[in-house]
Amino acid sequence: MLYFISDLHLSPAVPGITALFLDFLASLPGRQASSLYILGDFFDHWVGDDDCTYPYNARIIAALRQAADQGIELNLLHGNRDFLLGQDFATAAGLRLLPDPYVLSVVTWQFVLSHGDILCTDDRDYQAFRTQVRGAAWQGEFLAKPLAERKAIAAALRQRSEAIKAEKRDGADYLMDVNAATVEDFLRDNGYATLIHGHTHRPDRHDHIVDGIHCERWVLADWRQEVSRAWGDCLVWDGETLQRESLQRPLA
Ligand code: MN
Repeated sequence: MLYFISDLHLSPAVPGITALFLDFLASLPGRQASSLYILGDFFDHWVGDDDCTYPYNARIIAALRQAADQGIELNLLHGNRDFLLGQDFATAAGLRLLPDPYVLSVVTWQFVLSHGDILCTDDRDYQAFRTQVRGAAWQGEFLAKPLAERKAIAAALRQRSEAIKAEKRDGADYLMDVNAATVEDFLRDNGYATLIHGHTHRPDRHDHIVDGIHCERWVLADWRQEVSRAWGDCLVWDGETLQRESLQRPLA
């Protein structure tokens, strides 16, 4: 069984989601899972692998390592919040970093995995920002700053992004979803595989006809914490069908 999750936005601010994820991870061997694919924004923010020792992060890394040691193949591709997760983190957690997009071929099917932000091309401001922060120059300069300063910059960027999101909700909501023509090009470029992505926080299953070929696009939900309960979402491939499973856990 293959499991796909996305957009957990793990941080000490969401203990309910953290507990739900740790339970879910521990349940994978019993679920006959062979692999877990984490499709980005696993952490709410990541400012560099020297933060692996921060106690919250160390706890998550130890849990991942334990799952890996139990034989679960762990894979992660970057989101827009945690694109600085690097090889030191991957080694410590026992997981493999995947490029975005990543074509996943299994015996009977072909998937293409992405965080999904590259598909949101209507948002030109974001795409320009993305190009900048994914470049070696920006990353080199950023990672050279002291950890505390990087955390402060990340907090400021988050605040700005929340403000921009609130603004877009008031009028330009479409900016936060994928662009249909971009999705078609993406599917064409990736062999009309079944696309799984997150990022938009709009869980659904869409049909696309590209060059006369029927393609599916599955969108994962973000994990949420409410007053009394945390909610998660995963997709499960059993070798024949892809199915959505809702996860939940009462807050302690
Ligand atoms: Mn995202």
